[in-house]
Order: sequence, then C-alpha cells, then structure tokens
Amino acid sequence: MSTSVGQHLLTFHPAGVYREIQQALTKEGIMNVVIVGAGPTGLMLAGDLAQAGIEVTILERRASTEANTTRAFGVHARTLEQLDIRGLADRLPGQKVSGVRLFAKARIDLSSLPTRFNYLLITPQYEVEKLLRERAERLGVKIEHGQEVIGLSQNADSVTVKTTTSTWEAKYVVGTDGVRSKVRELIGLPFPGKSVVKSIMLADVRLDTRPQEAVTVNAVGDGFAFIAPFGDGWYRVFAWDRRKQVDDKAPLELSEVREVTKRALGTDMGMHDPRWMSRFHSDERQVPTYRKGRVFLAGDAAHCHSPAGGQGMNTGIQDAANLGWKLAAVLNGHADEQLLDTYQEERHPVGRAVLRSSGAIIRLAMVKSKAGQAIRNAICGFLLNKAKISRKAAGQISGIDIHYGGKTRASDIELETGRLFEALRGGRFVLVTNEARDTPDFVTTVKPKNPVAQPILVRPDGYVTDWDDAKYR
Ligand SMILES: Cc1cc2nc3c(=O)[nH]c(=O)nc-3n(C[C@H](O)[C@H](O)[C@H](O)COP(=O)(O)OP(=O)(O)OC[C@H]3O[C@@H](n4cnc5c(N)ncnc54)[C@H](O)[C@@H]3O)c2cc1C
Repeated sequence: MSTSVGQHLLTFHPAGVYREIQQALTKEGIMNVVIVGAGPTGLMLAGDLAQAGIEVTILERRASTEANTTRAFGVHARTLEQLDIRGLADRLPGQKVSGVRLFAKARIDLSSLPTRFNYLLITPQYEVEKLLRERAERLGVKIEHGQEVIGLSQNADSVTVKTTTSTWEAKYVVGTDGVRSKVRELIGLPFPGKSVVKSIMLADVRLDTRPQEAVTVNAVGDGFAFIAPFGDGWYRVFAWDRRKQVDDKAPLELSEVREVTKRALGTDMGMHDPRWMSRFHSDERQVPTYRKGRVFLAGDAAHCHSPAGGQGMNTGIQDAANLGWKLAAVLNGHADEQLLDTYQEERHPVGRAVLRSSGAIIRLAMVKSKAGQAIRNAICGFLLNKAKISRKAAGQISGIDIHYGGKTRASDIELETGRLFEALRGGRFVLVTNEARDTPDFVTTVKPKNPVAQPILVRPDGYVTDWDDAKYR
C-alpha cells in the first residue's frame, strides 16, 4: 500500500530532546548513520545528513590518495537543480550542451526545459565528487579511508558493520558501494538483470580537429563512436566494435579506438595522448527492494544500466537527495520510522524507468542491419521533431519531469528576497506563503515575489508536498 510522506511527519518536537538522545547514543558508541562508499551517491547523502545535524561517517575502501575512476561525464538539469539547492551548481566547471544526440539525426533538445539549467553539463565525475566531498567535510562528515566493509549484521535497534580493521555500530547503514556492492551481498539481496553491451572502449584523449557538434555520435555497420568535450581540451571517447567482443581486461591500444571511431564517424579527429583508457561492459540490473530493515541501498549499489543517456551518477545523486532528508527527519524526531519506506516507493520506480529508457537508447543505437538503421533513423527523427514528444524526451532524460505520484518538482519561484532554491539551502522544508503562518521548527517560511494562489509546501529535496496534511500545519 502506498503511504504518503506527509502522514509520517510528526508534529513539533523540541529539537533539544532529540539532540540529547543523539548525544547519548553517540556516547554508547552507536553512530547515527554509517555510509559505505565515498562515490557521488555516498558523498551527497553524507553532506545532506550532516547539514541536518546528523552525525555520519563514510567507510571507504580506497586509500585517501586513490581517486575514484572517472566514468560519468554528464550532469543533467535535475541534478544541477539539486546541486543548486545545496549552493553548489554554479561552482561546477564544465561545458554546457544544449542537446543530446542519440544516433544519426535523433537529437533531444534541452534548451526549452523550464529551468535555469536548460542544458547538459559535460564535466568529469571527479569534479562532482570533489565538490560533494568538500561540502561533506566542511559540514563535519568523517571519511574513513582504507576501510573495506566485509561483514554486516543487524537487530531491531542497530546495525554492526565490520571492515578489515575495525567494527562500527550505527542506527542506520546505507550501502552506496557501487555496482559490486558488498552491502547488498551481506543483506542477501539479489541483483537480477542481464548484460546489455560488452567490450565498450573508453578513452580520454586530445583531438587535432575540434568536432563540429558539442556531442558527436554515430554508428555505421559494426562500429559505434561517441565523442564529448570536457571543456578543458580533453575529450571522452566511447567506441564499440560489434565484431570484436573481448574481456574487459584485454589490453587496449589507442589505435583500436581510432580505427573504430574512423569507421563510425568518418574521421578519428586526430586523437592522441590518451590520459587513460579502459574496456568495460554494461549490465541492466536492479535490486527488488532498496531497504532491508535498517540498511538501505542507493546509487549503483541499487541499480545499474547502460551509460546511454548518462543517467547513472545522476540517478544516484537523486536517490541520495530523496533518502537524506527522510533519514534526518526520523533521527531528528520530526517523523516516524515509516517515512523511510517512502524511499523505496518513490525511488524504485525511477530506477526502473531509467533501466528501460537507457536500455531502449542502447538497443536502438546498436541496431545492426542497414534497413533497421534506416527505419530507426526515420522513426526517431520524425518523433523527436514533434514538439510534444521532444519535450517529453527532454523532461525524462534531464530528470526534470521526475515526480513522485502527486508530488511534483517545485519550480524555482522568485521570492521577495532571492529564489526558492536558495531558500531550500538550509536543508529544511520551505513554505511559500503570502501571509505569515505558524509552522513547526523544521519549516522555513518565505514570501513569494508574486502572490501564490495557495501556500506551497516544499520538501528539502525540492518536491511540492501535501499541504492538506494537518501534521504540516
Ligand atoms: C564508462 C562509464 C560512463 C558513464 N557515464 C555516465 C554519465 O555520463 N552520467 C552518469 O550519470 N553516469 C555515468 N556513468 C555511471 C556512473 O559512473 C555511476 O553511476 C556512478 O559512479 C555511481 O556512483 P555511486 O556513488 O553509486 O558508486 P561508485 O561511484 O561506484 O562509488 C562506490 C564507492 O564505494 C567504494 N566501495 C566499494 N566497495 C566497498 C566496500 N566493500 N567497502 C567500502 N567501500 C567500498 C568504492 O571504492 C567507491 O568509492 C558511467 C559509467 C561508466 C562505467
């Protein structure tokens, strides 16, 4: 049965009482939240919890000197809005791209999206992680490096996590430990799905010839190639050769990437000086449930899909934005425990939809026969020329149209002072109202620049929620 988020928010609780409870728990050695994995999902979640005053530690397997591999390179509009809500979006460097070309002439135009971020920002994943890490550390998050989680058990009150060198106890644990999640394995959840594409070659290179389009992509015969700029002189290349399917560990030379790119695009644009190259395969998988008792999964640990459409990191960051305020509300005593079930209700369908859409893009891109490619190009080109369909595709790929049942994304309303997304920066609920009202202490009240027909209550993750629920009043 679907539960309303609003139903679970309790009426006002004196914050001091809960602070005392938190302090008492900490004294007994029980943390509030332990997050496993310092990728983009874990870093975003940790920052949100710390912002709400929750004590949180991240356990990360990598040594502090070892960077996470650069995989994602596109940040979509809804993720940029989430970063804006945290005061981070304008600090992210990168190149703005007004549309995403899928294959041949099929292109999704992002320029008319109803947001100030009406584009895709091409930027390496490490820039996003750097920003999220700095924020998390500034807010007091402890990141423990060299801590590989190898064991986990839970009871009604807490979760015990074992790493190779230490033991941690927390009220809640979140596994953001990536596609091969140990946490997922330790709580016994399956990861059903299948492999969609093997032997994709990936290289970050310099080019002699600047591509004409911001994102260049095409498939010819058995070859497929994609090139996108990072904006600092480096380019990300994906190349795929249907005739050569080898293990991810097989050695990779730039000449192979050049040859396949040339076949697909007619030129290799003089690529040279690769800073790194690798082969990878891509699976489509999703856990049946994002929660088991006191343990949650988010990001790649909960779902993975093809890189087509650039959805993985974006979806993980938005999982974190959804779960963070809910965990904080429960731990701060503003909501009952059942609020946490709405994480699964709201985010699992989004993950499933992403699997479907990125799967559709990759399958269409990989159509083999010439006749099939011609039909695909004609149909997709025709459909994406229709304003309504093009707008729908843009809303979906950018994340702008994600909603949770009746809870839609709040637009960035202008306020008497500033704008709504700035008002959300405190990590609290925001009530946009023409006249002052009494509200619980977790709600900030703001006045709109132009009167609103009725008060609008916005969750910390930027979704409009039930005003009718008496518990908000
Ligand atoms: C080639 C490629 C291109 C991509 N392009 C895009 C794109 O353009 N846009 C996009 O949105 N996404 C893209 N993705 C997907 C994106 O990279 C991932 O979705 C994203 O990194 C997931 O973030 P995460 O934080 O959930 O997991 P990860 O980034 O995988 O982080 C998991 C962390 O957990 C740590 N860890 C793992 N096991 C343990 C353990 N037992 N104990 C402690 N720590 C542990 C790891 O060291 C790591 O730091 C791409 C992926 C690939 C492979």
